[in-house]
Amino acid sequence: MKYSKRFRVEPGSKVKLADIDAGFKDRHEDRESAQSELEQNSRRLAELQYLMYAEDQRSLLIVLQAMDAGGKDGVVNHVISAMNPQGCAVHAFKAPSAEELAHDYLWRIHRVTPAKGQVTIFNRSHYEDVLVVRVHDLVPKKVWSKRYDEINDFEQFLTENGTHVVKFFLHIDAEEQLARFKQRLDDPGRHWKISESDYSERAYWDQYQAAFEDVLEKCSTEHAPWYVIPANHKWFRNLAVSQILVETLDSLGMKMPPARVDIAAMRAKYHAAEALEEGGAAADGADASSAEREAESQHGKKAKKHKDKKKS
Ligand code: ATP
Ligand code: MG
Repeated sequence: MKYSKRFRVEPGSKVKLADIDAGFKDRHEDRESAQSELEQNSRRLAELQYLMYAEDQRSLLIVLQAMDAGGKDGVVNHVISAMNPQGCAVHAFKAPSAEELAHDYLWRIHRVTPAKGQVTIFNRSHYEDVLVVRVHDLVPKKVWSKRYDEINDFEQFLTENGTHVVKFFLHIDAEEQLARFKQRLDDPGRHWKISESDYSERAYWDQYQAAFEDVLEKCSTEHAPWYVIPANHKWFRNLAVSQILVETLDSLGMKMPPARVDIAAMRAKYHAAEALEEGGAAADGADASSAEREAESQHGKKAKKHKDKKKS
């Protein structure tokens, strides 16, 4: 099944989260039955990220939003572990600092969008400014209600400038959230994850769901789609996210860039270096420089040929 089709929110369509099965796992019984597909996706993701890095022409921004304990950290871990860290970045957005609050709400976001060739994951994002901010009346309605259009414009701007934007809402239900809170309580290794706000925010479950539904309806666009990922099963969540990322990156039609050097000349240099190495200590400097001269002359001949060809 193509998850990009199944979980994508059609622009402008209404979403009722309570009607979406957070425990969906497609045809899979359990983690084991999805394992080979997961591994295949991870391998392909690694190849595609390598290509993006090598091409150095465009970038990918992955936005993650969820209720507390929804699995954002788990997705970050899963996606990043498939990639070369050199081409990746993760940014978590917490309650804004005084400096951030003194700027417009997109200021802290835009500074860390990915450079060409890079993949960046946002763990929470500019969407908090129409989620927590709306639920807790941190700014008046007339301020936050304009932000959906502003966000769409911002994401369109990013897209037009070579950043592909993919957004995942990790959908768990209230029972699953409570089960995860319990796991955290029962496992001393997870105690550090527990915060007062997990419980205080849970009391606003319905308001958050309504705020998410508005985000999904107003901000899933052709250029920056939202996907609602059934996330009660962590392995299925990872499977769906990785499959959608593979599809997204595949659809960009990225190409391995051509060499920036004359490969024949480099090959000649390599042979010269190899001859030098094989000659070892016995091969004196004269041999080395003659091998190098040979390489140089080959390069010269090639360059001349190229020039002549251009002239004709
Ligand atoms: P975990 O899921 O592991 O608990 P987390 O992302 O919830 O990680 P926390 O430090 O627990 O991290 O929470 C970050 C908090 O910052 C959230 O309550 C979030 O709503 C809040 N936050 C993020 N952006 C904004 C914003 N623009 N305005 C107000 N609060 C924000
Ligand atoms: Mg939290």
